[in-house]
Amino acid sequence: MSNRFQTKQIQDLDAQHHLHPFSDHQSLRAGQNVRVIVKGEGPYVIDSEGHRILDGMAGLWTTNIGYGNKELAQAAYDQMVELPFYNTFFKTTHPPVVALSRKLAEIAPAHINQVFFGSSGSESNDTAIRLIRHYWALKGEPKRRIIISRKNAYHGSTIAAGSMGGMSHVHQHSYPVYEGFRHVMDPYWYGDSFPGETPEAFGLRAARAIDEEILRCGPENVAAFAGEPVQGAGGVKIAPSTYWPEVQRIVDKYGILLLADEVITGFGRVGTWFASEFYGIRPNLITFAKAATSGYIPLSGVLVDDKIVEALMSTDDDFNHGYTFSGHPVACAVALKNLEIMERDRLVPKVKETTGPALAKLFARFKDHPLVGEVRTVGMLGAIELVADKKTRKRFDDPGRVGLICRDHFFREGFIMRAVYDTMVCAPPLTWTDAQFEEAGAVIQKALDQTL
Ligand code: PLP
Repeated sequence: MSNRFQTKQIQDLDAQHHLHPFSDHQSLRAGQNVRVIVKGEGPYVIDSEGHRILDGMAGLWTTNIGYGNKELAQAAYDQMVELPFYNTFFKTTHPPVVALSRKLAEIAPAHINQVFFGSSGSESNDTAIRLIRHYWALKGEPKRRIIISRKNAYHGSTIAAGSMGGMSHVHQHSYPVYEGFRHVMDPYWYGDSFPGETPEAFGLRAARAIDEEILRCGPENVAAFAGEPVQGAGGVKIAPSTYWPEVQRIVDKYGILLLADEVITGFGRVGTWFASEFYGIRPNLITFAKAATSGYIPLSGVLVDDKIVEALMSTDDDFNHGYTFSGHPVACAVALKNLEIMERDRLVPKVKETTGPALAKLFARFKDHPLVGEVRTVGMLGAIELVADKKTRKRFDDPGRVGLICRDHFFREGFIMRAVYDTMVCAPPLTWTDAQFEEAGAVIQKALDQTL
């Protein structure tokens, strides 16, 4: 499709009938046209007018192996023909869910051997919240219900996951923030450190905010701490090296559970299968979604450690929780094939060896640009933070406006990065080669210059 008239028709129908997530519906209805993406090919998406756009966001932190992979399509087709669906409730199972569970246990940290499936990251976090509270009830400490998480965290949009998240613009709608969540500062050195405070000192201070909150709540009431190893939707905030070891020390000190939300960082994004390994932490639960299938079909889950599983085994009561599509056979078959391709093509070690260093080198080129306050990367995750004044780190008076201008320049030049307020974030497919890094570099340079 490359016809302007057809594009307009789709846009009009979209405005009339489709309510978009995280969108301002008034401007969509008023004809501020949406982009019509019709195809994906390797690292590119193609719009309805034939523009090839390099996707620096992997869909939405998701298509780790890129678009148009026929092996995944074949795996889905074969499984649909064999067994398109059966539930895993009521003492039934099927080969793809068993094979995927085993594979996930193999790549997860050694103390994690079981998985509970869902379809979205939000669902996986809801499951984790229920498992955490159920665990403490089984251990005879039902008062332990409070989960401490961080400001600006994104854990999903269901009521429980949205409440565990720390985004005020998410909370402002229907949520009376579900009782039992507390939010502490996030480890954002560039934005929140005191003058002269080193990243290491700041990392310790940010972690100790958790300790202080535990004491405020009463340790006997606290069930868990939850965090994304790298805060993604909050602006790719990479914690200083002192942060996670101190968090682990604090959760161990109080014996509370640690939930790592790896919906973005899971499946190789930072150069290990899970970022928990990269940061040397021992979560009791890891939630995942997105790149498990490279987004070809929805699948999510919670990896659950042996300690929690042991508690579940201590009773013959049901854990009354689950989704019709928990362990969907087609999604499991696609995930297995996706992991097989990632292993065969060495996509995870390459993040450490080549692609991650290439992204770091690319972003380092822009750190002296007058509009750029800080660049930060870890593996194939990156951010370019734009500021009004480089010296004082002063932000723009109208938060987000400059980021949106910059994002639109990127898009016009054929490259997608997302604006989180005035921070441009990037999470490309792990398959990028030198050609894509060069192409991205040329667009970023031009777009930053035009944005000034
Ligand atoms: N957790 C994190 C860290 C995320 O980034 C997201 C989505 O971006 C979610 C959870 C929610 O996932 P979903 O949109 O699949 O419900």
